[in-house]
Amino acid sequence: MTETGKESAKPQAGKAQSRKPPRPKVYLESRYQKLERGLPQTIFYCPICKGDRRKSKNCQRCEGFGKLTKDSVQEILSRRLVPALGARFGKFHGAGREDVDVLMLGRGRPFVFEAVGARRPDLDLDAFLEEFHERNGERVRFAPFRRVEKARVAYWKEAKFAKVYRAEVKLASLPGADRCAELVGHKQAIVQRTPQRVAHRRADLEREREVEICAIEAMDSQKLLLEIRCSHGTYVKEWISGDEGRTKSSLSDLLGCAAECAQLDVLEVLDA
Ligand SMILES: [Zn+2]
Repeated sequence: MTETGKESAKPQAGKAQSRKPPRPKVYLESRYQKLERGLPQTIFYCPICKGDRRKSKNCQRCEGFGKLTKDSVQEILSRRLVPALGARFGKFHGAGREDVDVLMLGRGRPFVFEAVGARRPDLDLDAFLEEFHERNGERVRFAPFRRVEKARVAYWKEAKFAKVYRAEVKLASLPGADRCAELVGHKQAIVQRTPQRVAHRRADLEREREVEICAIEAMDSQKLLLEIRCSHGTYVKEWISGDEGRTKSSLSDLLGCAAECAQLDVLEVLDA
């Protein structure tokens, strides 16, 4: 998966230049809600062949598909928005990203959609969005689009925001109601070593983070439902399990038993 979520091949260099004025780039800022699990934010290219057509033909990982999921938030939007703007292609610049299996709820996650070579830059964006939601509103939803300057891409890329998550946690044994009540408002400074699951693409570092338990309740005899507020870049699944000692301390440490994240959703990106 590329960081910018670029969509198709660059326009070829060396082609005869037309005398018409260059088509403008259009930058549209919005926020997305991801309401379907299993949807990545941007195109999920196959890590082996990287979506290269010649290499993907014989690729066993993606079986020639070039990517690992059929769709993404980027593709669902681009499919409609790129032709509506008469653009050549679009790039999706998110303010961070959640895991593929994590929903993005609340006010949604900020992003900028960059439409390259837009022939119809004056598209009625509100009308576009209304029609878009009629077709796709059960999978992804967007806040009203706002035309912005290019600088907003870097702003969102560099910004660091705390987040509120909702987690279903599977436990070997559930704590009593008193213990749960005690943990509400508990604020914990933690140290996380880069989790094993992302170690292949992230430097192996120790990071200091903070996690606050905002709410906690029993869902059934095996699961707790937690609402937590985390500083930017916290690996929540690892804070829950402890990641075999790589996160200290963890929810598992707090409760004194094995804990595993069964389901996770982002409730809010706290940018304002
Ligand atoms: Zn492949």
